[in-house]
Amino acid sequence: HELRTPLATIQSSAELAEMFMQRGAEAKSTKHLGRIEDNVERMTTLLEDVLIFGRVESGRLPFHPEPMDLGPLAQETVSSMQQGIGQNHCIRASGIDDALPMTADPQLIRLILTNLLSNAVKYSDEESCVQLTVDREEEHVRITVEDKGIGIPEADLDRLFEPFHRAENVGTRRGTGLGLSILKEVADVHGGRVGVESTEGVGSTFWVVLPLSPPPESPETQP
Ligand code: ADP
Repeated sequence: HELRTPLATIQSSAELAEMFMQRGAEAKSTKHLGRIEDNVERMTTLLEDVLIFGRVESGRLPFHPEPMDLGPLAQETVSSMQQGIGQNHCIRASGIDDALPMTADPQLIRLILTNLLSNAVKYSDEESCVQLTVDREEEHVRITVEDKGIGIPEADLDRLFEPFHRAENVGTRRGTGLGLSILKEVADVHGGRVGVESTEGVGSTFWVVLPLSPPPESPETQP
């Protein structure tokens, strides 16, 4: 269903765009081209989630820790997301201006940030701001993303990090329910932890705590 709906929309919009173009109705044709773009983007996100989830399930999630700096990586991620979501939503960030050297897989860390920030944006109103905070603790780094969005019903909190689980208050917001299960696995391979505090109708705070270096028993260093 998740794949068929966008494909069906792409098909019908392409036909309509062609028809309106032949009739010289440029505005209508442009509208349908926009719909095609939206749905291609939707399918791309969906396929990315499914591909990563497939790797997680088969124990083949690529994990290449290296010395990296979380500060600039977070700055880059926030600014590219801010461009993607336009003017209406805002993302505030603190604790990312300084260097934050750690050993981790930069691609997976980016995944954590985009996952948490895009959820916070998706599940809150356009006027509200999302807050990203990065705190350096003694041997750890804590990434916190807070929103004033729809929140999560108490009954769903326990199962949130399970694959495909979506809370009952998501309404028409699109999603696969895979993002948080991927997030948990990414934290696990780094020897980290994830958690959430949320009140329905008030907002949510998701956090990820990662060690500054993955522990020696992490899968990467196993023979
Ligand atoms: P989805 O693709 O459905 O967003 P995720 O795995 O990222 O999947 O999240 C699982 C579920 O957790 C979501 O369907 C939603 O019910 C809930 N959720 C995640 N982030 C938030 C948030 N910031 N605010 C409210 N609900 C959230």
